[in-house]
Amino acid sequence: MGQSSPHHAMIQIKDLHKYYYTGNKPLHVLKGIDLEVKEGELVSIMGSSGSGKSTLLNILGMLDGYDEGTYTLDNVLIKDLSEKKAANYRNKFLGFVFQSFNLISYKTALENVAMPLYYQGVKRSKRNELAAEYLAQVGLTDWADHLPSQLSGGQKQRVAVARALITQPKVLLADEPTGALDSTTSHEVMELFKEINNRGMTVVIVTHENDIAEMTQRVIRLKDGLVENQQEAHV
Ligand code: ADP
Ligand code: MG
Repeated sequence: MGQSSPHHAMIQIKDLHKYYYTGNKPLHVLKGIDLEVKEGELVSIMGSSGSGKSTLLNILGMLDGYDEGTYTLDNVLIKDLSEKKAANYRNKFLGFVFQSFNLISYKTALENVAMPLYYQGVKRSKRNELAAEYLAQVGLTDWADHLPSQLSGGQKQRVAVARALITQPKVLLADEPTGALDSTTSHEVMELFKEINNRGMTVVIVTHENDIAEMTQRVIRLKDGLVENQQEAHV
């Protein structure tokens, strides 16, 4: 899949439209989005509440489809995929981090991190070995046997990041990953994203906080369903 020359477009979105059909008339949420994210970039998506940030990120993460336009991920057109194919691509190519961590409460930190490999049919000993490695990368070796309820918010988000990385995705997507954290912890989690990006990972972070966006290389602003500008962030 895809080419491997450095700094090619990892994500290309052209004239993308998305409607929700839940009410009595369709809600036109994304009205012709154009954007590109290069391999190895650390980008943030900003916009006021309801501007369509999560909708866009869910499309990027193949958690939802779109109505018009094109989305190309590493030169593969992501459009009208079967559920099975979408799940397969999602598992292989994308890591997702959520505001609310979405950890499984009755599983330990190690088991949570190992979970995506279970769905890939990796055997238990290998899963646990890799999960321990990824937990170490986020500084949580000593917390491997703890349940989510025994971890702080920042630690939970680190577990979620390790879980997102264990499948070695092409892109790490995060929807308000610091939204449930205090500002000190938020900055620590952002440092972790920067570290991961420094190792070459393409990272896209949705946020409505300026200080979080300022820690990324480039800010994409959404307004009224369109990209307002894509200025360089002043870091
Ligand atoms: P943001 O993440 O920027 O706050 P969202 O993408 O969640 O914005 O929402 C954009 C708009 O789409 C909002 O008006 C929201 O109410 C609406 N919306 C989001 N998800 C759904 C859905 N599943 N069904 C119907 N409307 C939705
Ligand atoms: Mg949102």
